[in-house]
Amino acid sequence: MNAPRLRADRARCTGAGQCARTAPTLFDQDDDGLAVLLIPNPPVEALSQARLAADLCPSGAIALHGDLPRARPITE
Ligand code: SF4
Repeated sequence: MNAPRLRADRARCTGAGQCARTAPTLFDQDDDGLAVLLIPNPPVEALSQARLAADLCPSGAIALHGDLPRARPITE
């Protein structure tokens, strides 16, 4: 099993800041606004935030790799 790994490609980052707002435990921004990855191997409980940050990044700079648990369907 490959543990989940998170990457932030700072060469693609445009400094929009969505990641730091969406997942503040996983991302920060440097003085230029570029993403700083805080936890490259996120724990299971942070994977939904990691997925959301990757989905919302406008430049596609965030990627989540490894064996990921399936997302649970939303039920109400
Ligand atoms: S959301 Fe994407 S473009 Fe914006 S700061 Fe984070 S990595 Fe950079």
